[in-house]
Amino acid sequence: MDKARLASALGAPSAFGQSQFALTRGNAFEAKVKADGGAELLRLAHARLDPGAAPPEGAAVPDLSAHGPEGRAARTALALREAARAGGWTLLDHPMLALDVAGSLAFLEPDAVVVHPDGSWSVVEIKSFPMLDGSADPSKVGAAARQAAVYVLALEEVAARLDAVPVVRHRILLVCPKDFSNLPAASAVDIRKQRAVTARQLTRLTRIEEIARTLPEGTCFAPDRGAEELTEAVAAVPATYAPECLSACELAFHCRERSREEGAVTRLGRPLRAELGGLTTVEDVLAAAHGEQGDPDDPAVAALRRAAALRAEALASAEPPARAEALTDAAHREVAPCP
Ligand code: SF4
Repeated sequence: MDKARLASALGAPSAFGQSQFALTRGNAFEAKVKADGGAELLRLAHARLDPGAAPPEGAAVPDLSAHGPEGRAARTALALREAARAGGWTLLDHPMLALDVAGSLAFLEPDAVVVHPDGSWSVVEIKSFPMLDGSADPSKVGAAARQAAVYVLALEEVAARLDAVPVVRHRILLVCPKDFSNLPAASAVDIRKQRAVTARQLTRLTRIEEIARTLPEGTCFAPDRGAEELTEAVAAVPATYAPECLSACELAFHCRERSREEGAVTRLGRPLRAELGGLTTVEDVLAAAHGEQGDPDDPAVAALRRAAALRAEALASAEPPARAEALTDAAHREVAPCP
């Protein structure tokens, strides 16, 4: 489903994604990097990923247009196979890849894929965050590496379907603006770890058929349904909202509201949730802190009771507000004459 449309239909439009300004700036930078048949991009790929190969002169840039994502994915697979057989450098601009995610085909569009003269394939990610003195913000590089790892897995599925299996490289090319200019700078990023983690996560995902089997008959997420029906449909799927959802999922505002209503502690952060053990709601936490429920030998319950006792002690010894205000006024008068 289109989660952004679903979020709007639920009355909690997503604020997830880049601003229009950032998108325009990113698109302009990408167009600059790929200008002249990708000459600069291929030069960077040669310099950073494959300096021992022949220089990328006269590289091929095949036309990948086709009808629909399935057609584009088939056209990309064909172009990859032809390029691997032909030798020389080839640039695939916005290829379309397909990846099986929990039993459903997801279509992915990397910024580019480069085919090297030895027939191997590399993913290219073009980002608009700056590379200062040769290095970029590690959290942004990490996010780009995780994204590229998914493309690498999708490329490996394409490679597995070919007779002569080409190598999918596990070092990707990250291209960013150099310092604060709009000139491109690039570095090779090793994504082996991210690839292994993503592959493991993909195999552990619950299959979509299994999730669907647990839903009430007739559950439908089509965004043209009424808000009430959609709220009921979304509520039928278990969700554990955490603050990280805000930067990763279009349904974050809806799930946050639902989590608030349920008093779930996960909305305050996963580390806190882990510390609280079996206490999953704010109500349970308060009851445990006030000695109304919970096993006193449970370390979380004992820590909560200690914290509640300290708080009560601190409040009992605090000055009443009026007295505190008077003290503050007196202190101000004391300090006022000082130059
Ligand atoms: S719990 Fe988080 S990831 Fe799951 S649907 Fe809600 S916002 Fe998205």
